[in-house]
Amino acid sequence: MSETGLVAAFTGVRRPFALMEFPVPEAEPGAAVVRITLANVCGSDLHIWRGTYDVSRGNSEPFCLSIGHEMTGVVHELGDGFTADSAGEPLAVGDRVVFQYFVGCGECRSCRRDTTPRCPEGLKYRYPPDQYPHFTAAYGQYYYLRPGQAVFKVPDNVPDELAGPANCALAQVIDGLERGGAGPEDRLVIQGAGGLGLNAIAVARERGVGQVIVVDGIPSRLELALAFGADHVIDLNEFPSAEDRIRRVFELTEGDGADLVMELVGSAQVLPEAIGMLAQGGTLLEIGNINQGQTVTMDPSQLVHGGKTIIGMMWYRPESLRSALQLLSESAANYPFDRVLSHSYPLTEIDQAFADQDTGSVQRAALLPWGDGS
Ligand SMILES: [Zn+2]
Ligand SMILES: [Zn+2]
Repeated sequence: MSETGLVAAFTGVRRPFALMEFPVPEAEPGAAVVRITLANVCGSDLHIWRGTYDVSRGNSEPFCLSIGHEMTGVVHELGDGFTADSAGEPLAVGDRVVFQYFVGCGECRSCRRDTTPRCPEGLKYRYPPDQYPHFTAAYGQYYYLRPGQAVFKVPDNVPDELAGPANCALAQVIDGLERGGAGPEDRLVIQGAGGLGLNAIAVARERGVGQVIVVDGIPSRLELALAFGADHVIDLNEFPSAEDRIRRVFELTEGDGADLVMELVGSAQVLPEAIGMLAQGGTLLEIGNINQGQTVTMDPSQLVHGGKTIIGMMWYRPESLRSALQLLSESAANYPFDRVLSHSYPLTEIDQAFADQDTGSVQRAALLPWGDGS
């Protein structure tokens, strides 16, 4: 094929992205090529760019690596035998789609046992873009969808701005609250009101969770948390110590503590606090701490005496992505999702997008591989 497309490759910590051009691959049987219409800078991408989440695999800088995982697009080509999405809906060229940004190998022990969607062998993205099939991440004009990768058609009433974050933040917190069995009887504490935290509030409300308490220290985020439907917020500035915040959670929960805590901050330091906030028999959903090498001192007897559980999770099951689209289609109007994605940039201005999100002047930047920003 003579068609080519751009990839913005990550070259190292706080280094400029390299715009590179590669031939668009043909879709092998069971695979598809997607024309990306929108990608986002997620918190974990920012961790990579800052170097706190190390993806160098020991390679010295500058290197070339495809990154970015939140995206939506349009089917550009379908390989032989690829006729329906993962829900069984007929799929055709031109259809709008979202998809998991990962695919398990299907063969390793964790895939076979289906105990977690996190397959150690199956990370089929973050490749050097000069390797075939070149388009393996979100910061480019195309994406090569591999056989077996979950994909869903986007409902017509869900715009790209909402569909983009569905395959990361929204699907991840849907999966987390499902694993935690969150329901009307539960009191939930959400640590961190960034993209994940705000999505989690909406999901908790949709599940009818009894009480939602959100902890953060940035006023605009706390205000947004309340707009998303949090019952209470705990401001780090008002409750500066972990002990104060734990006490506050017990006050707000009639002395019982939280049945569920979601860690969405990405700092090891908040773990003992999360465990301290839990009620007897409560569960900590550990999602945010992706950065390697952070350690913290904690007292495991709290887990034993309190009958408490920690569930670590990364990635999610396909049904959670399907639920994310359903939620957006049916209930997005009830939540200020539009305020989370605050700015868009053409792909060629990806360096500016990262710089702006790094300073916090932009909550979640959207990259448009084919169009102008606004
Ligand atoms: Zn993400
Ligand atoms: Zn596997």
